[in-house]
Amino acid sequence: APVATVRPVQPQPSPEAQRSPSHPQALAALRGVRKSFGRRLVLDGVDLEAKAGQVTVVLGGSGSGKSTMLRILLGLESYDAGSARLLGHEVGELTRAQSRALMLQIGVLFQFGALFDSMTVNENVGFALRHVRRAPEAEIAERCALNLRRVGLADEGALYPAELSGGMRKRVALARALAHGPKLLFVDEPTTGLDPLSARSINQLILELNRELGVTILCITHDIGAAFELADQMTMLHEGRMIATGPPATLRESAEPALRRFLAAAGRS
Ligand code: ADP
Ligand code: MG
Repeated sequence: APVATVRPVQPQPSPEAQRSPSHPQALAALRGVRKSFGRRLVLDGVDLEAKAGQVTVVLGGSGSGKSTMLRILLGLESYDAGSARLLGHEVGELTRAQSRALMLQIGVLFQFGALFDSMTVNENVGFALRHVRRAPEAEIAERCALNLRRVGLADEGALYPAELSGGMRKRVALARALAHGPKLLFVDEPTTGLDPLSARSINQLILELNRELGVTILCITHDIGAAFELADQMTMLHEGRMIATGPPATLRESAEPALRRFLAAAGRS
C-alpha cells in the first residue's frame, strides 16, 4: 500500500463533553466544500455540522446534491475544495486502517435500503458483524435478535427481502445499520416510497434511536414532513449552498425565497 500522510488525530472530546447539550461536538462536519461533476458545480461551498446527540436534517430538492454530500462524508466521493471531517478526522486524509476503524463507529441507512436479496433478514442484519468485524457467531445471533426486536421484526429473521413490504425492508435496513452499535447514523431519504403510516413509524424509530440510545443522526431528505418530524437542527441545501440553518422553527419563519417556495409547494406556509 502507498505510504499515506497521516495528519495528527484531533483530541477526542471527553464523554461528558459529548453528552453535554450546551457544548455539543460535531461528529460530522463540512466546511466550504465544493464539488463538481464535469462542468456541473453541485456543491458550492457547503457548511454543515452534525452535533453529538442531535438529529440534524438536510432538506433539499431532488438533484440538489444531498446524496453527494453524504458520499463525501463517507469517503465514497472526492471533493474539490474545503474540509470534510468525520469523527474528528479529515476524510480525504484517512489511511485505509483509520477508515475501517471509523466505519465501525458509523451506520448508514441508504435510500433504497439496499438489502441483499439472496440473503435472509438475519444474514442481512449480521453482514457487517460477520464479514467486516468477524465477530463470533453467538454475538452475531444476539445482536441480530436485539436489533430486529428494536425495529419490530423479532419473528421475521428467516424471511427473504422479497417476502417483506417496503416499510419492513426499510426496518431491516435500519436494523442492519445499527447491528454493530454505531454512534453516528447517516440516513438518506428514510421515507421515500413509503405510505404515510410506514413513513411515520420509520421516523418514530429513528427518533427512538436518538432519544433512547443517544445515536447522533444526520438525515438528508426532500420530504418536508419528515424533516420537521425529525429535526433538532435543520439546514436547507439550494443551488449548492446552505441557505438557511437552525432549529425547525427558524426555518419555518425564514424569509429565504427558495425555502418559502419549497414550504409553500408542500402546503407548509
Ligand atoms: P440528491 O441526493 O439531492 O437528489 P445527488 O447528490 O444525487 O442529489 O446529485 C446531485 C447532482 O449531481 C445531480 O445533478 C446528479 O445528476 C449529479 N451527480 C451525482 N453523482 C454523479 C456522478 N457520479 N457523476 C455525474 N453526476 C453526478
Ligand atoms: Mg439522493
